[in-house]
Amino acid sequence: MPNYESEIKRRRTFAIISHPDAGKTTLTEKFLLYGGAIAQAGQVKGKKNTRAATSDWMEIEKQRGISVTSSVMQFQYEGYCINILDTPGHQDFSEDTYRTLMAADSAVMVIDAAKGVEAQTRKLFKVCAMRDIPIFTFINKMDREARDSFELLEELEKELGIETYPVNWPIGCGKDFQGVYDRGSRKIIHFTSNGGAKAATATEVELGDPNLDGLIGERLHRQLTDEIELLDGAAAEFDLDRVRHGKLSPVFFGSALTNFGVEPFLEHFLQMTTAPLPRRAGELVVDSLDDDFSAFVFKIQANMNKAHRDRIAFMRIVSGRFDADKEVYHVQGGKKLRLSRPQQLMAAEREIIEEAYAGDIIGVFDPGIFSIGDTLCAPGKAFTFEGIPTFAPEHFSLVRQVDTMKRKQFIKGTTQIAQEGAIQIFQEIGGGMEEVIVGVVGTLQFDVLEYRLKNEYNVDIRMEGLPYQYIRWIENEDLDPKTLNLTSDTKRIQDVRGRYLLLFTNSWNINWAEEHNPDLVLSEFGRN
Ligand code: GDP
Repeated sequence: MPNYESEIKRRRTFAIISHPDAGKTTLTEKFLLYGGAIAQAGQVKGKKNTRAATSDWMEIEKQRGISVTSSVMQFQYEGYCINILDTPGHQDFSEDTYRTLMAADSAVMVIDAAKGVEAQTRKLFKVCAMRDIPIFTFINKMDREARDSFELLEELEKELGIETYPVNWPIGCGKDFQGVYDRGSRKIIHFTSNGGAKAATATEVELGDPNLDGLIGERLHRQLTDEIELLDGAAAEFDLDRVRHGKLSPVFFGSALTNFGVEPFLEHFLQMTTAPLPRRAGELVVDSLDDDFSAFVFKIQANMNKAHRDRIAFMRIVSGRFDADKEVYHVQGGKKLRLSRPQQLMAAEREIIEEAYAGDIIGVFDPGIFSIGDTLCAPGKAFTFEGIPTFAPEHFSLVRQVDTMKRKQFIKGTTQIAQEGAIQIFQEIGGGMEEVIVGVVGTLQFDVLEYRLKNEYNVDIRMEGLPYQYIRWIENEDLDPKTLNLTSDTKRIQDVRGRYLLLFTNSWNINWAEEHNPDLVLSEFGRN
């Protein structure tokens, strides 16, 4: 056991997801407030400043804003060291969310109490379910008129297909929202507001306390007694094992705006979620407490700071301790190297760090050598963590530069943006890079591509939509795609690594290809 075992064991790394506007940013900020990372809420530079209009275009800006200013943050709370990973709320960026979830050990899902499960909640939840990670639910905005709590739980169960366990229960809502009843301790936590910028004052009272009527009022007291009876009779048993396998979601109620319920959430959540979990590398299971350092890259972001044209690779440390002075081995690159300018976000500040531990996320300066899914480990070791699958793109466009003199910038821009995982690029078989086929999961990504090529690489492009809907990688290694028997509207292409693929206009054509080429093996996912 390494002597920094306690450092690793006190770490908690989670992703936060929500439909836009449910309160993810506000809640994150309140975590920082309670953790003492900021003295007053409202200090973290809000994305609100950049959100002036509601057009699709602003939507992209907003997404970029989210991931640029607050993609990963670390703070301390009662002895725990907590890493929060922010995720984009828009479905067109669900692949980004999936990659972020690979780096997390659990997820916190924020729900608007007046709206319940919304379109993006459903989509993001599906992505969480693919990873089987524990999902904690925070029902937010209880300071406003909310829907019936039982009805909300029923909707979560029915719409998302997960069992729920209310850990606490709200006392009133809207102006009457007084606090929460903690089911485990059978205590009432009554809050008094100090304005949203400062922590709320909490008073704990036993359920049987004779002064309860005076505190929360007779009506709410009666309602609470009835609801507790219903809950105790009806709700599922609490089972931590089912929580850890993503089958049962602990539910909490509160208001991020007034801070009511934020602390009770943090306290329970930190106990229920796990210390850094192991990750698989083929046959090998790499435990967080293993002696040697290891990590994998899950996100690459270029030009976070336009003035510096930097490119940052974010990695999750899987095991051991990272020491900025020591060399690490980059498995895919086959090279020993020293990670350059390692940094972490502490509240709103970016800090250069000397050390970090399993569970932590660090960003390092990337001169263009890392790809998503890459493994780093101690020199002398060589294993690769299971790759991060890419989602099959569903929309395709033919893209070329308007000004042929800008060929170099065009190739550089499209290649770099593709390395970040924001788009996937393909070519005609044997074709050059001056014209590429771009595949995306959500069409907003096309707009991001166009915007970024213009703003970061100074290249105007022409885009032409293609009628394809499905893409399949050809798994057979020595197969010449020219020999395949295909429908005339099926297109043969190759990816940047020279692997062959097929583009189909409909699923019927996929079946046709498989039936007429019995040896052909197609796969929906391309590994990084
Ligand atoms: P995000 O898009 O999920 O990050 O949501 P934000 O945190 O940006 O919040 C969206 C809006 O809801 C903002 O105007 C917040 O002030 C407001 N909001 C967030 N939490 C609460 C809450 O608990 N109660 C109320 N009344 N408003 C809230």
